[in-house]
Amino acid sequence: MAKFKGREREYHREWARAHRAAMTPAEKEALSIRRKKAWAERTTEQIETASVRLCARREDPVTGPIIRARDKIYGARCYAAHREQRSIAAKKRYADNPEPYALAARRRRAADPDKVRAQKRDSDRRCSADPIVMERRRRLRRVSSAARRSADRERYNREAREYRAAHPLTSEGRNRAAASSRKWHISNPLNARIRKSRRRARELGNGGSHTVAQWRMLCEAWEWSCSYCGVPVTERGVERDHKIPLSRGGSDDISNIAVSCRRCNRSKGTQTVEEFLRKLVA
Ligand SMILES: [Zn+2]
Repeated sequence: MAKFKGREREYHREWARAHRAAMTPAEKEALSIRRKKAWAERTTEQIETASVRLCARREDPVTGPIIRARDKIYGARCYAAHREQRSIAAKKRYADNPEPYALAARRRRAADPDKVRAQKRDSDRRCSADPIVMERRRRLRRVSSAARRSADRERYNREAREYRAAHPLTSEGRNRAAASSRKWHISNPLNARIRKSRRRARELGNGGSHTVAQWRMLCEAWEWSCSYCGVPVTERGVERDHKIPLSRGGSDDISNIAVSCRRCNRSKGTQTVEEFLRKLVA
């Protein structure tokens, strides 16, 4: 294998390096294909001998450190190049079968809670510098905590009640809470009304819910005009009409919501869309 020795070998290596550096990407690709083909054509014995030889060189006190250093560089390069792919594959593995991962995480936490907490703090500190990661984390947290709450609403309500009983608000605290709630209702009018109807639908057992984004999209789709009479509506004046009213078993799902002006919504009252339209036509 080794055709050259000493300085001559160094010279040939230098030449090969310069040659490779001067190659275009297409030429590099062709070379790599040629090499892969040559590799595939080798017999099992040849491959085995080569790998035995490589192992021996890895153990060798002179060549060993060089090979290991090179492997490290290649490894790091490969690791960086396939980062995206790996993360997608890992996410898929997790999504296909989350149970073992959750179990392992629980075990890690149980084995050394302080260590897990320290790791979390560490990653929080690192992430807090990255606004994109922070936004993603906020979103994830919002979604997962909402899911947890709705899966066990009774427990969360009970715990909130217990917490309130154990930590009563001072009158000053009560005033502050009321003021901040007022402020929130004023600056989030769409949100506040949506919450109210969602709650009512839940209490009536009708179910369903929609988000502000969905409601806004529906308004956009109707080009901000009443779906009954067609008059233009503003963001402040637009009303969400429940096609089948909540009081008659309609859900709070977006499919049961119509863009309405105040007048139409009031005159429709507790009628369904069919009843209302029939009366309009008559
Ligand atoms: Zn109208």
